[in-house]
Amino acid sequence: MKPESMIEIINLNKWFGNFHVLKNINMRVDKGEIIVICGPSGSGKSTLIRCINRIEYHQKGKIVVAGTPLTNRMKNISMVRREVGMVFQDFDLFPHLTILENLILAPTWILKLPRKTAMATAMALLERVRISDQAQKMPGQLSGGQQQRAAIARALCMNPKVMLFDEPTSALDPEMVKEVLDVIQDLAQDGMTMICVTHEMGFARQVANRIIFMDEGEIVEENDPDNFFSHPRWDRTQKFLSQIL
Ligand code: ADP
Ligand code: MG
Repeated sequence: MKPESMIEIINLNKWFGNFHVLKNINMRVDKGEIIVICGPSGSGKSTLIRCINRIEYHQKGKIVVAGTPLTNRMKNISMVRREVGMVFQDFDLFPHLTILENLILAPTWILKLPRKTAMATAMALLERVRISDQAQKMPGQLSGGQQQRAAIARALCMNPKVMLFDEPTSALDPEMVKEVLDVIQDLAQDGMTMICVTHEMGFARQVANRIIFMDEGEIVEENDPDNFFSHPRWDRTQKFLSQIL
């Protein structure tokens, strides 16, 4: 059986003014695949994944998410956003709401779920990321690692088909990186389709099906983890790996 495509990106090009930030990006992510994207700062990694749920728009090329092509129609954009969960570097929880309120906001407002149903799902997900005891606290009362796990649980409350992570551990103190990566790895093992921008190469080696290396707006190299690390094909990849490993 042919694998089901979750994300398909065809000849994607994007400019910020005159600056060509994404150049002819082609990429396909099948259901259940775990993709890690790495590359130097400024290479366009965030912009690429932000295009997938239309936080940024592209000028040329095509993006199809779970069978829906991204167009400018708001209805179509909302549909895609519902399928795609996103977790940012800086957690991005609403500071004036409790953790539980953060989690049930979108399910009650966007999916129109009854509060009780949304709360039950939220509590189960907080349990899953092992912070159910923090449900009634405000984000500022949690550690960075706990806040990031709450942000992951919040994205999962919408029952997404795909999860996008943009450097989910780079704002964390070192001792909290593992607890967040463990949660992401659990999700991966559960079959969630995901794209994770990260420089945690131990995680990439263990969890990714494919690693994509970007530089200056291009995909320079794409390979399975074994070959990516042991036989990088391009100088630019080798140089990058020698700097971070
Ligand atoms: P990365 O995530 O790989 O560090 P980004 O996607 O954030 O890279 O940025 C790629 C390039 O695009 C950088 O040169 C950055 O300065 C530029 N850029 C990002 N966002 C904007 C924006 N809103 N307007 C103009 N330039 C931007
Ligand atoms: Mg970035």
